[in-house]
Amino acid sequence: MGTVLPLSGARRPVLAQVGGRAWTGHRSDRLSVRRAPAALTGRKTWKERVVSEAMAASPSLRGRSSAETRSAIVDVIRSEGEISRTELARRSLLTEATISKIVKSLLEDGIIVESGFAKSTGGKRPVLLRLNDQKLYAVGITLDVTRCVIVLCGLDGAEVDRCEIEGIGQDEPPLVLDRVARALQQLLDGRGTRQEFIVGVGVASGGRGFSPGRKLDATFVDSWEPYPVEEELSARTGFAVIRENDANCAALGEYWTTGGSPTRDFITLYLAYGIGCGLIIAGGIYRGVSGNAGEIGHTLAVANGPLCWCGRRGCLDTVASPRAVTEQIVANPTLRAICDVTRETEFGVIYRRFGLLVKDGNEPARRLFQATADHLSNAVNDLVNTLDLDLVSLAGPGFADLGEEYRCAIEEQLATFALTRGVRPITVRLGTGSADAAARGAASVVLHRELTPHRSVAAP
Ligand SMILES: [Zn+2]
Repeated sequence: MGTVLPLSGARRPVLAQVGGRAWTGHRSDRLSVRRAPAALTGRKTWKERVVSEAMAASPSLRGRSSAETRSAIVDVIRSEGEISRTELARRSLLTEATISKIVKSLLEDGIIVESGFAKSTGGKRPVLLRLNDQKLYAVGITLDVTRCVIVLCGLDGAEVDRCEIEGIGQDEPPLVLDRVARALQQLLDGRGTRQEFIVGVGVASGGRGFSPGRKLDATFVDSWEPYPVEEELSARTGFAVIRENDANCAALGEYWTTGGSPTRDFITLYLAYGIGCGLIIAGGIYRGVSGNAGEIGHTLAVANGPLCWCGRRGCLDTVASPRAVTEQIVANPTLRAICDVTRETEFGVIYRRFGLLVKDGNEPARRLFQATADHLSNAVNDLVNTLDLDLVSLAGPGFADLGEEYRCAIEEQLATFALTRGVRPITVRLGTGSADAAARGAASVVLHRELTPHRSVAAP
């Protein structure tokens, strides 16, 4: 799954098969490894490597189609946040004249804007370029049980407007999509944003993805899973619609808006009612054979534990998801009294009160929190060991109140038990801890597909 580093000329490393871990020579390594200076080895610096790989599978863009080149240049501007023409030319190995031509067309199309000046290195101060957040927009939508969120994001993935309408509830999909389409139109009308300035619509939804026409196991399929949301919402709005599961959306949102690099794989643990995980591998979502990769909630947490809706016992989802936490509170008279809730209290209220009690240091609440945090940390540790990662992000409404507490617990686990803890530090980053994480991410899925198609999300 790793990205192949570009090698110059015919020099290729001699590979030797060895046991044990690979040590990178990072200063925190327990082994002392002397490295030759980059100037002597001819290796690129980490930053040059990141950028050249962001551009394409090849370190040079020479000889690639103009569409691929343009797409790759946009991706570098996104990844860097701001960059000058000269720097783009230096890193892409293209001439400044070629870069100027591409930049001119991107400026004319409203994809990028000039955003100020870089520091002078002796001569004229270079003009910086960044993605335009004022002209073209992507729409992101979450379809949630209690509420549906619609966000409008600029090309940099940042939210510029939003609205919220009632959730799916028990309504059938056509009715919900009617509501969503009306709310989207009102949002655009209210801002005076014309249809032609919308790049596309992304929909984040829970559940599994199914290929159309495939026979389903009717024992545990909800009506949304096989429903053709893309076609139906597209017919109602006139926009191109792409659907992705909420955890994948949150992960790609993190990638798009935080300067993610194709050479730094990471996972996003997504907490809403249940637990999901988005895997960003080589600059795109890893989707698996059927588009359902990342179902960390259905990995084993407790042998012979509680029965999960998927049919297995002891899934992570049954012991550590916000839904499981609220079920444990409601089933326990002590916790029920402490949280001042009844069996009829709404999920969000129970979870919020639980969060406040944990923050206040309430002992029974903290014990329950610690148990769920241990389960989550162990599951993340397994993935970090399996994929050899050094970055984990956390996103979703389940982290809204206890995000920092969960972040610390997971980071401590990884610093103590991850196999590669001595090879390099493993960062746990708290991302968007709200219901908007998946909606913003859904907009990023659209931007990723439309603006940087050389790395687009592949359909299952
Ligand atoms: Zn399960």
